[in-house]
Amino acid sequence: MKVYTWKQLFWAIFLVYLPVIILGLFTELLLELLLVTTVLHNAWHYYFLKKLNDWLWVSKSTVLPPGKSVWEHAYIGIHNMQQRHRKRRNNLANVISRFREGSEALPDAVVVFKKEGEIVWCNRLAQFQLGFKWPEDAGENITNLIRHPDFVNYLRSDVYNEPLDLVSPINSDKLLEFRVMPYAKNQRLLIVRDVTTYRQMDENRRHFVANVSHELRTPLTVLQGYIEILEMSAQDDKMQLKTIQVLDQQTARMCALVEQLMTLSKIEGAATLDFHESINIPALLTQIESEAIALGRKKSQSIQFKMDPKLSVVGDEMQLRSAMSNLVYNAINYTPEGGCIKVLWKKLPEGAYFCVMDTGDGIAPEHILHLTERFYRVDASRSRDTGGSGLGLSIVKHALSHYDTKLQIESNVGEGSQFSFIIPNNYIC
Ligand code: ADP
Repeated sequence: MKVYTWKQLFWAIFLVYLPVIILGLFTELLLELLLVTTVLHNAWHYYFLKKLNDWLWVSKSTVLPPGKSVWEHAYIGIHNMQQRHRKRRNNLANVISRFREGSEALPDAVVVFKKEGEIVWCNRLAQFQLGFKWPEDAGENITNLIRHPDFVNYLRSDVYNEPLDLVSPINSDKLLEFRVMPYAKNQRLLIVRDVTTYRQMDENRRHFVANVSHELRTPLTVLQGYIEILEMSAQDDKMQLKTIQVLDQQTARMCALVEQLMTLSKIEGAATLDFHESINIPALLTQIESEAIALGRKKSQSIQFKMDPKLSVVGDEMQLRSAMSNLVYNAINYTPEGGCIKVLWKKLPEGAYFCVMDTGDGIAPEHILHLTERFYRVDASRSRDTGGSGLGLSIVKHALSHYDTKLQIESNVGEGSQFSFIIPNNYIC
């Protein structure tokens, strides 16, 4: 590519005027010749300027007009620039069409909208699932089309860590899961999935577990009654007594498992809590403390409760009792004889803080993420000894989810563990 410097341009003009000056000096018509040359020179430049103007604004052809000297290079430069822009535009168009094709192939409704709510684009499923009309709804505010107050608040909150479940705006039999994520500059991507079947299956599973646990309760109580009678009548026969004791232990384990399954179904099934009722947490913790001391005494453990006697929260007592007692009993169960367990209940700037610390064996890091899964046990044989079912921390997780909080677990193998959570200030009474 030719680049003209000032010096080269000067020489180009100089070479035009030099013969004219020499001729002018010989013929003594210097001024006239200079005038004529300047007019012709200007006319020559205007001719090519006009050609450039026609090419850019009139013919708009992709073929270059023929040019001379400086103008030829200017034409080529502009033409190359045009080609580059055309290529970039085509690439962008390809990216957009690939994105649209991909979004159309998704099994979810996809809507792109501006931060303020103005709809930029939606796929075909958004038209079926949300009742959007395309292209008529382009530029419409999304909250005018999905008017549910929960959705409007969800958008306004600008915090999209958790999805939002809502009944479909066009079919009340369908349950939709709304997920919003920041997209490009100042835009949002809404992905809507039909979760009716999934939620229905989840509900059926919960009902099934709740019903089975309930039905198992009666035969287990009967069994326990007969075991007690057998135990009394077999006092002299040591062999028989041993068998009956094993039977008794296993039935007690099964009863505990059934109770935990029922608690978990109840907590999972409670969609929202009644936050009008206040729970006297210090009184609740005093009860748990006396039960813990009785349990810990068998293992000569030191158990210390430190609580703020005025700190209480609203919600469901059964759920918080299950969460707190499970953490305390786990600490007792998984701390060897002579260990130390500390329980804290105090006010922090972020909310009410509950923490159970123990000097037990600790948990290896690879297990920590899975501890709140149903039936997850680090060491099944050790849990069996403690009568554990693997449901305790799952109960804690679900109970805490009603308080918009999470269980924090810190543990070091051989040193001990710390299980804690913070109930946000808006639940404190
Ligand atoms: P489980 O009924 O078996 O105790 P949990 O859900 O309460 O079930 O606990 C899951 C697993 O987490 C337990 O099996 C145990 O291995 C581990 N765990 C829970 N609490 C502690 C603790 N304080 N110290 C060490 N391990 C613990």
